[in-house]
Amino acid sequence: MPLLVMKFGGTSVADLARIQNAAQKVKREVERGYDVIVIVSAMSGKTNELVGWVEQTSPLFDAREYDAVVSSGENVTAGLMALTLQEMDVPARSWQGWQVPIQTTSAHSAARFLSIPRENIDAKFAEGFKVAVVAGFQGVSPEGRITTLGRGGSDTTAVAFAAAFSAERCDIYTDVDGVYTTDPRITAKARKLDKIAYEEMLELASLGAKVLQTRSVELAMRYNVRLRVLSSFEDTDETSGTLVCDEDDIMESKVVSGVAYSRDEAKMTLVTVEDRPGVAAAIFGPLAEAGVNVDMIVQNISEKDLGGRTVNVTDMTFSCPVNQVARARKALEDAKAAGAIMYDDLVSDTDVAKVSVVGIGMRSHTGVAATMFKALAADGVNIKVIATSEIKISVLIDRKYMELAVQALHDAFALETAN
Ligand code: ADP
Ligand code: ASP
Ligand code: MG
Repeated sequence: MPLLVMKFGGTSVADLARIQNAAQKVKREVERGYDVIVIVSAMSGKTNELVGWVEQTSPLFDAREYDAVVSSGENVTAGLMALTLQEMDVPARSWQGWQVPIQTTSAHSAARFLSIPRENIDAKFAEGFKVAVVAGFQGVSPEGRITTLGRGGSDTTAVAFAAAFSAERCDIYTDVDGVYTTDPRITAKARKLDKIAYEEMLELASLGAKVLQTRSVELAMRYNVRLRVLSSFEDTDETSGTLVCDEDDIMESKVVSGVAYSRDEAKMTLVTVEDRPGVAAAIFGPLAEAGVNVDMIVQNISEKDLGGRTVNVTDMTFSCPVNQVARARKALEDAKAAGAIMYDDLVSDTDVAKVSVVGIGMRSHTGVAATMFKALAADGVNIKVIATSEIKISVLIDRKYMELAVQALHDAFALETAN
């Protein structure tokens, strides 16, 4: 039997009527002759509520219990989806992660897949079940504890099942009808893309476009999964949505294909650090040990007169997620107290956002940075930090200019038109 994976995100299963609507789409594929693995998210808002309850109960929570609580939203929708399908005479049953069993690492709240054995689900398909409804976002650790995969993780569950079961395609149903040149909530000029290369989607996702979890794109790229993003609110067919595919399958693309943003950034600066070999390691070692995800880094070297002796000093600036500032500060203050690093001051700015342009065309075109910086300057947006890679340029700016910057860049690279 050909097999499809269909994933429904939070807004697509937000209430019983939406679950009914999603189940209709599943039924249609069953009628076309597919066996279907349905991956469901929790009802929209549910995971946030569960996270809130955990944080209120225990600010420095045990991550194993966090996972026990926050994974539960998906269990509810998996059961409800199976029941809805049964009511439509579609033979379906639900699966929680441990029943498959979906084996993951024990990195609670950010676990990774180890394996997805097929036997149990295959046996049920062989008995005549047409649909396996699997709770997304969760698995079980080698120690037998429930794990979760990080926010947005149901996308990754879907792609991992598509790879494990050699699915014909992995369809991600969501509240937008595809991947756009930028978040359509930020500008009405955002244009839906028919196709996007894995690498571009990977960059856009990792730079903040939350339409797909980054890890899901990584897995799709590695296992060559045909990955599609489409709307659960519209009538759809084989041609709907956006296909994430190899760059060779895209005839012509622009130099820049998309603009991404991330509002949850912070900038921290260590003021006047003595510049000597090993100083970067002395700073970023403790940050890594404390689990701080450092993103952009800039170092400015200058000279300082220390009572007649001139020494090279540096200001070391880095960015990290805003909710890790307290942890970063503690790691750096502890390192200073232990004499491992010396600095005059530690300044943090939690009102920043990161805006990035992405495109594989940048590999062979120059001038993208100049166009980007000119467009931001024309709108009076000051750039605090810049980072580049082969196919992206990111800037850190004041958060209040974030939407303006996204719109300005979308215009500057003429993304509203296809050519
Ligand atoms: P789901 O609950 O279905 O997983 P998400 O909220 O995680 O949905 O992701 C869909 C949202 O991603 C959209 O509503 C949109 O606001 C946002 N988004 C951000 N960047 C993009 C983009 N480039 N294209 C499409 N949607 C985007
Ligand atoms: N429910 C989880 C979250 O909100 C996983 C997901 O929806 O992908 O992050
Ligand atoms: Mg999502």
